[in-house]
Amino acid sequence: MIIERALAERLDAADPLAAFRDRFALGGDDQLIYLDGNSLGRPPKATLERLRALFEEEWQGRLIRGWAEWIELARRAGDVIAGGVVEARPGEVVVSDSTTVNLYKLAVAALDARPGRTVIVTDDDNFPTDQYVFAGLAEARGLRVRKIRTDIDAGVSLADVSAALDDTVALVSLSHVAYRSGAIADMAGITAAAHEAGALVLWDLSHSAGSVPVPLNSANVDLAVGCTYKHLNGGPGAPAFLYVREDLHTQLRQPIWGWFGQRDQFEMGNDYQPADSIERFLVGTPPVPGLYGALEGAGITAEAGIDAIYAKAQSLTELMVTLHDAWLAPLGFTLASPRDAAQRGAHVTLHHKQAWQVCQAWQARGVIPDFRTPERLRIGPAPLYTRHTDVYDGFARLRDLVAAGEHDAFPAERARVT
Ligand SMILES: *Cc1c(COP(=O)(O)O)cnc(C)c1O
Repeated sequence: MIIERALAERLDAADPLAAFRDRFALGGDDQLIYLDGNSLGRPPKATLERLRALFEEEWQGRLIRGWAEWIELARRAGDVIAGGVVEARPGEVVVSDSTTVNLYKLAVAALDARPGRTVIVTDDDNFPTDQYVFAGLAEARGLRVRKIRTDIDAGVSLADVSAALDDTVALVSLSHVAYRSGAIADMAGITAAAHEAGALVLWDLSHSAGSVPVPLNSANVDLAVGCTYKHLNGGPGAPAFLYVREDLHTQLRQPIWGWFGQRDQFEMGNDYQPADSIERFLVGTPPVPGLYGALEGAGITAEAGIDAIYAKAQSLTELMVTLHDAWLAPLGFTLASPRDAAQRGAHVTLHHKQAWQVCQAWQARGVIPDFRTPERLRIGPAPLYTRHTDVYDGFARLRDLVAAGEHDAFPAERARVT
């Protein structure tokens, strides 16, 4: 089937977000096609300028006095996320620590709020760090993890979650967008079902923040965590965010009693008295360069608007599915993501039995995707800077290299980081 490049050109010409590409530092390599913005977003130009100002002006010039402003950054970045990235009220989101650490803090807070209940429900397709945190908590506290068996290409269903619920369940925790397939879970339905059973719900938004609408308030979600270095373009290792619904702030206690969670931090009192606000979920001194990265990255997303970003994500992934069907399916690929755009986040995953070799060969052709087990290419176009022509050209290179058998020349053994 012939699909003209003009189709991709027309979609780009009509793209309301096209101008945002110029807001990113794209490096010198014009031929490079980056389809991994869901693992590490590209740097916004505004972030480079912020960090230059931080190092050359604020740190050198303000020295310790800089903390008068830096101390506000975790809340400021949180409010940008609450206002423009996820559906949350001001003061319900704060930026801190890593996603893993935030998950631990909020999971403990939730378990302590449901004494006597002994089960954590998650699924076996959840991101490994989430599964490890729950396994560790279960072992330390004599609890049980009830793992739903999920189809890794279709994602977790409301029916599967409902079947795992009863009055022993303290906490239900799942990923909103599945890291491997991109499948979107039914946030509202699953949250309501968990509440019905008396459990609290903790969503991992790492692959949904900045790519799809996240209805935290309208779904009455209790708790959530997420990354800022993926779709939010915060930079490598930028701190994560956490969300706690307003009415739970004073009911929940997190396990790491640090001075950034203290009510009057600079009173230097001997006894821990947690703040009444979202700040009680903070721990210690934040990484200021990373906070600025999170602030700027979330700011661009909020400016573009999540609905426009999601619409473009669907357009880009639709094109990928169309090109897969026409060009790649005859070469041994299969779609390992939901076919219905409404069920997908902003990435598409393809199965090929030599996916790791194909991944290396594609990189040698100047296209950067992700490899994920088992034998999958995870392809994440970023709506703020990926063009439809990038998808078209990248997929054409993939078709040509696999048709020519170029991937056979690459090692089958995997590298340490994939
Ligand atoms: C990327 C990702 C993480 C990463 O956690 P870190 O603590 O930042 O390493 C956690 N959960 C999910 C679902 C992810 O996709």
